[in-house]
Amino acid sequence: MMWPNWLPLRSDLKALSPYGAPQLPAEASLNTNENPYAPSITLQKAITAAVAEASSSLNRYPDRDAIKVRTALASYINEENGTEFGANNVWAANGSNEIIQSLFLAFGNSSALGFTPSYSMHPLISMVTDTKWINGERNQDFSFNVDIAIQDVVHHKPLLTFVTTPNNPTGGAISLAEIEALAVVVGENGGLLVVDEAYAEFSNERSSVNLIAQHPHVVVIRTMSKAFAFAGVRVGYLIADPSVINAMMLVRLPYHLSALTQAAANVALDFRAELLGNVGMLITAREELAASLQAMGLRTLPSAANFILFTGFAVSSAQLWSQLLEKGVLIRDVGLSSYLRVTVGNDAENKAFIKALSELL
Ligand SMILES: *Cc1c(COP(=O)(O)O)cnc(C)c1O
Repeated sequence: MMWPNWLPLRSDLKALSPYGAPQLPAEASLNTNENPYAPSITLQKAITAAVAEASSSLNRYPDRDAIKVRTALASYINEENGTEFGANNVWAANGSNEIIQSLFLAFGNSSALGFTPSYSMHPLISMVTDTKWINGERNQDFSFNVDIAIQDVVHHKPLLTFVTTPNNPTGGAISLAEIEALAVVVGENGGLLVVDEAYAEFSNERSSVNLIAQHPHVVVIRTMSKAFAFAGVRVGYLIADPSVINAMMLVRLPYHLSALTQAAANVALDFRAELLGNVGMLITAREELAASLQAMGLRTLPSAANFILFTGFAVSSAQLWSQLLEKGVLIRDVGLSSYLRVTVGNDAENKAFIKALSELL
């Protein structure tokens, strides 16, 4: 990007490009790990009614602390884990990306560590908030190596250490025992361990929220965008010790979560059994999709999420990506040479993907 001379843009931003998952029309959109199942008519009507009710007071600011949403999110997490969190353990924002940004604003003044390849927004938000980002390593097969992670923490002493489980874009999950071992060392070195669990509902591993009572420096990020099938509304949240929530209140913008967002989120949380009802089906479809890819001679990485990273094709990632797009199938080139990532879609989308791919290989 050529920036005009008169624009006083921060010099450290000039080399960056905006987050850019292409938003292109396609028959099968399997590129951003969305849930393929649209809200039911009953849920659409319930949201419409709640939004209509909220509309009558749109001249007023919304509940700045979003207490109702945070209380409902706490009870969802408690149902799932047998924990006893309340609203004071939960912070909610416009997608977990805003949560990540708030963590950097509150705690990011020295350095942050993550284990690459992982979610590209962690380093990007780190740079934008002027925090030094350190790329920690994984095993050759992209699995998480807790010994390397511990060494990196001891060596760099970052204030924020990020782990993503299941990891995006590779799909692998980390056991709770390994996360706890890392949490102990992060605590000894004066930092926070941020566990990004955007895909937790698709995994069999226990959630790191179970570590918070013992290890108050563990912060768990969740989102309604993936398993919850609610990406369009933009609600992400974190679960943590109340002191972390108090720190979030220092850096949040006042009234950040709109009245319409809060109204829709409250309805979705009431409908959580229905919204999460497709998770089992997506897990089955993920296993079928992996088997089909393997049957074509491709190699798939083990996934505990709603996507699969695969390799073993002869052309470049960029080439196969565009050939698939020409056939109406949009998947994701995550910038890992010779790999591509496909989101598990509905039956028709998965079939369209497999058909297009088999014609190309
Ligand atoms: C999708 C994703 C998120 C962000 O989701 P929001 O829509 O901003 O809530 C966060 N972390 C990871 C690892 C993701 O893949």
